[in-house]
Amino acid sequence: MILLNPKDPDRPENDPRTSELMRATIEFFEAKGKKRLLEDYYARGWYADFLEYAGEHRLLATMCTPAGEGAADSRWDTWRVCQFAEILGFYGLQYWYTWQVSVLGLGPIWMSGNDAIRKRAAEALEDGGIFAFGLSEKTHGADIYSTDMVLTPDGDGWKANGRKYYIGNGNEAAIVSTFGRIDGSDEYVFFASDPKHENYHLIQNVVPSQSYVSEFELEDYPVTEADLLHRGRAAWDAALNTVNVGKYNLGWASIGICTHALYEAITHANNRVLYGSPVTDMSHVRKMFVDGYCRLVAMKLFALRAADYMRVASTEDRRYLLYNPMVKMKVTTQGEEVIDLLWDAIAAKGFEKDSYFGQAAVDIRALPKLEGTVHVNIALIVKFMANFFFDPGDYPEVERQDQPRNDDFLFHQGRAGGLGQIKFHDYRKTFERFGRIPNVERFAEQAEAFRELLVSDPPGAEQMKDVDFLLAGGNIFALIVYAQLILENASIYGIEDDLLDQIFDFMVRDMSQQALTLSLQASSSDEQMRLCRKMLRKPLEGRERYERVWEQVRSLDGAYAMSP
Ligand SMILES: Cc1cc2nc3c(=O)[nH]c(=O)nc-3n(C[C@H](O)[C@H](O)[C@H](O)COP(=O)(O)OP(=O)(O)OC[C@H]3O[C@@H](n4cnc5c(N)ncnc54)[C@H](O)[C@@H]3O)c2cc1C
Repeated sequence: MILLNPKDPDRPENDPRTSELMRATIEFFEAKGKKRLLEDYYARGWYADFLEYAGEHRLLATMCTPAGEGAADSRWDTWRVCQFAEILGFYGLQYWYTWQVSVLGLGPIWMSGNDAIRKRAAEALEDGGIFAFGLSEKTHGADIYSTDMVLTPDGDGWKANGRKYYIGNGNEAAIVSTFGRIDGSDEYVFFASDPKHENYHLIQNVVPSQSYVSEFELEDYPVTEADLLHRGRAAWDAALNTVNVGKYNLGWASIGICTHALYEAITHANNRVLYGSPVTDMSHVRKMFVDGYCRLVAMKLFALRAADYMRVASTEDRRYLLYNPMVKMKVTTQGEEVIDLLWDAIAAKGFEKDSYFGQAAVDIRALPKLEGTVHVNIALIVKFMANFFFDPGDYPEVERQDQPRNDDFLFHQGRAGGLGQIKFHDYRKTFERFGRIPNVERFAEQAEAFRELLVSDPPGAEQMKDVDFLLAGGNIFALIVYAQLILENASIYGIEDDLLDQIFDFMVRDMSQQALTLSLQASSSDEQMRLCRKMLRKPLEGRERYERVWEQVRSLDGAYAMSP
C-alpha cells in the first residue's frame, strides 16, 4: 500500500540510519500517546519535549545538514525529507512547522559562501538547535521588495532596524536568517541575527498555537561583514531559491494529515451502525470515502514524482520549478478537499477533543495559504504554459530517485528567473501510454480541447491582465500537469488499473468544473465558451471497478490507531 502506516514504516530503499530516523520519530509520538498529543495541542504549550527528543536523536542534524558540512551520516536527501515531513504532518502540523521553518532558515545559510556561519549552523544542529527564516513583515505580505528592515552604515558595518512578523521559531532559533536592504539603495541582504542578542526584541507570538510564529524587532542591531550571508542579487536569489526548496514540504504535511485522518474516519464510519447497517453502506458516504482515498493516493503519487524531478534538477533541467509550486498549491488544496469529504462522512465525530480529526480539520487549511497563496503560485506556473503545451523538450526518462545521496543542486540553484525558457517533456506521450484506461482517455480528450482553445482563441491582452481569468486557466493547466505526473508514477509504483481509472473519474469531474469556471468568466469569448463546453465531460462509470476500490478503502478500517 502506498499510504503511510506507522506500524510498518520501513522502506526497502532506506539505508539503516534513515530507517532508524523514521522509526525514532514515530516512536516519540507513539510513546507520547494520543491523549497527551491532543492535550498539548489544545493547551498551546511550546513543544519542548519534541525538540529535546529531536536533539538527542540528532533528527535535524542528520536530515538538515548537507553532506560535507557535518557528521558522516548527514546529507540533504529529498527522498528521506519526504518521509520525515509526512510523518511529522501525520502527528501534527505544529511539529512539522518547527522543522519546516528550520529548513527555510537553513536555506540562505547553506547557499552562502560564509564558511564560519555554515560551520556555526552545523554545530548548532548537532546541539539540537532550530532555525528561523525572517522574510515576512507585517505590512508587506507577499511584496517582499518593500522590506523595511534597513541596514544603516555604522563604522565598518551596519546597524539593523526594523520589525519582522510571522517568523516561526523566532523565539528560540540558533540563527534567524533575516532579509533586509541597505539604507538608501535597492541592495538586498540576508544576514544572521541572534534571538539572544540584547538588541533583538521578541515581541509576541502572533498566532494561537503550539508553534511560536513571532513578531520581533531589531533595534540598532549591530551587523558586520561576518554576519552577512548574501548581498545584492544573491540575497534575492537566496530568498526565492530557499522557498523553492521549502514550499515542496507543504504538500507532505497535507499528505500526512490526510492519511491519519483517513484511518480515524474509516475506522469510525465503518463501525458506526445506523438503521441496522454501517453508515458506509449508504451510497453517498461510500462515495465520499472512495473519492477521498483516490484524491489522497493521487496527492502522494504526484508529490513522490515531483521529488524525482527535484533530485535530478540541474541548470539544464529546471522542470522542478513547475512541479514544486504544484505540490505546494495543488496537493495542499486537494488535502482540504479530502478532509472536507471525510468530515462530511463522520460529521460530529470530527469535532471531538480526543480525535486527531479535530486538529486535522483546522490545520489542513493553513497549507494552501503559507509560503505563497494558491493565487501567487498559479500566477507563477502560468509562465510555463506556452512551452509546456507547444514547445516540448527532449529529456532522458527520469527513473525513481530513491538513492541515498545528497541533493547538491538544491543549494546551488543559481539565478532565479528565466522561467519562460524552461522546457518540459511531452505530456501527450504520457497520456497515450494509458489510453487503455477509459477515464484517462476521457481526460486526455478534455486536455486536447483546452489545447485547441489555446490555439484557436488564446487569451487576449486584456484577459492576460485579468487575474480571475488567469487563475481559471491556470487551474486547468495545473490539472493537466497533475495528471501527467500521476500517470508516470502509477507505472513506477505499479498502481492497478482499477484505482487509476477511479482516480481519473474525479480528474474528469474536476476538469469539467474548471472548464465551467473558465467559461463563466466575464471576459470569456464565444469561441472560448464553446471549447469550454467541449471540455464538460462526464466520467465513465464502472460499478465493479468502483466496488473493488471501495474494498481497498474498507480494508483500512482498523489498520492503524495511535497509541492512547
Ligand atoms: C502560521 C504562519 C507562519 C508563517 N511563517 C513564516 C516564516 O517562518 N517566515 C516568513 O518569512 N513568513 C512566514 N509566514 C508569512 C507567510 O508565508 C506570508 O506572509 C504569506 O504567504 C503572504 O502574506 P499574506 O498572507 O499576508 O498575504 P498578502 O501578501 O497580503 O496577500 C493578500 C492577497 O493578495 C494575493 N496576492 C498577493 N500577491 C499576489 C500575486 N503576486 N499574484 C496573485 N495574487 C497575489 C494573495 O493571494 C492574497 O489573496 C507565515 C504566515 C503564517 C500565517
